[in-house]
Amino acid sequence: MNFCSACGDRVELKVPTGDTLPRYVCTACGTIHYENPKMVVGCIPEWDNRILLCRRAIEPRYGLWTVPAGFMENGETTAHGAQRETLEEANARVEILGLYALFNIPHINQVYMLFRARLLDLDFFAGAETLETRLFGETEIPWDEIAFATVRRTLNLYFSDRRNGEYRFHMGTIEPLPKSAPVQQGSAAERIQNEK
Ligand SMILES: [Zn+2]
Repeated sequence: MNFCSACGDRVELKVPTGDTLPRYVCTACGTIHYENPKMVVGCIPEWDNRILLCRRAIEPRYGLWTVPAGFMENGETTAHGAQRETLEEANARVEILGLYALFNIPHINQVYMLFRARLLDLDFFAGAETLETRLFGETEIPWDEIAFATVRRTLNLYFSDRRNGEYRFHMGTIEPLPKSAPVQQGSAAERIQNEK
């Protein structure tokens, strides 16, 4: 950040009086511009024993598969955000069933909240940010082409829970792998710690 969004003058990075962390502070009007983590909301749309995945038409991870998810908007609930993202990316209508997984990703300042959801019909089709939408059974999941570590981990938990006959809530933290570790395309270039 270089300029104040309130008055347009320059900002400087400093610890405001009474604060403990550096913030962008306007040199003219004194406005403190706080930056906080972003929420990513999405869902696992279910139909019988299959789930709906989207192949990304945008970077990052162009061409890889993910569940419908995206940044939460102001003025909406997390569940509504998950429904909206599912409509935008897959033109799919869902009923939200419950919160399934929460992942902290502190190194990129994001929190993922993924819900289980029930597809209401099969009239889905790829949205503008999606190349392709498809239903997958567990044995059909393209594990080598999953876009994000959060999604890979969530799907692993989901199918494991299904085999055990009970969907539990899961919470974890995703940390970057050491720089020296080899990274394969679409692989989980991140380390996941379960907290629950
Ligand atoms: Zn200002």
